[in-house]
Amino acid sequence: MTYDRLVCANCAAPVTEGRCPVCRASRERMREQGQGPFAGLSPVMLAALLVVFLGALALLAHQTV
Ligand SMILES: [Zn+2]
Repeated sequence: MTYDRLVCANCAAPVTEGRCPVCRASRERMREQGQGPFAGLSPVMLAALLVVFLGALALLAHQTV
């Protein structure tokens, strides 16, 4: 997503310059959206989640058989 040329409605300056709190807030929000839902998670955290998920799956399969 390109928001380089987006102009703030509050101060009429480019949002990327962050001249006012509105600019900084929208800039933060857009940055979070651009990174996706897993951007805040580290690869190690994702690997740990995967291990936990596989472990639960194995446990479930063991119980049903
Ligand atoms: Zn602004």
